[in-house]
Amino acid sequence: MVPTQDDSKATTKFRVAICGGGIAGICLALSLSKYPDIQVDLYEAAARFTEIGAGLTVQGRTWKPLELMGVDATLRKAAAAANNVATSEFSIRDIFPF
Ligand SMILES: Cc1cc2nc3c(=O)[nH]c(=O)nc-3n(C[C@H](O)[C@H](O)[C@H](O)COP(=O)(O)OP(=O)(O)OC[C@H]3O[C@@H](n4cnc5c(N)ncnc54)[C@H](O)[C@@H]3O)c2cc1C
Repeated sequence: MVPTQDDSKATTKFRVAICGGGIAGICLALSLSKYPDIQVDLYEAAARFTEIGAGLTVQGRTWKPLELMGVDATLRKAAAAANNVATSEFSIRDIFPF
């Protein structure tokens, strides 16, 4: 069967290749995957995703995009609120004077 113009429109997707499955690549892939006309291919150099033992601090304003992507509820289950957090500015030379 010869496809009509409308058929070809229905099957042709805009393709996006994302190189890097870090937080930026995954957020972009997740956001674009909500659009049915876009096909997302995510390429990651590492052989697999795994825990690396690093902690993660999520600042307040970062919750908004996490909410928009629909991942905030899952993250909240694993997270703990940090109370009485103080930040300070220092140079590595203040600690290691070399
Ligand atoms: C020790 C440490 C602690 C941190 N703590 C925090 C924190 O608490 N809170 C916070 O918000 N930020 C923190 N950061 C910063 C945060 O990790 C980075 O800002 C963030 O990870 C950057 O994300 P990204 O996706 O841009 O890059 P990356 O996380 O670096 O991801 C890039 C990905 O691309 C892959 N890649 C590279 N080249 C290729 C290629 N050619 N083809 C395919 N894949 C490729 C890499 O394997 C990697 O997985 C921390 C950083 C460090 C180093």
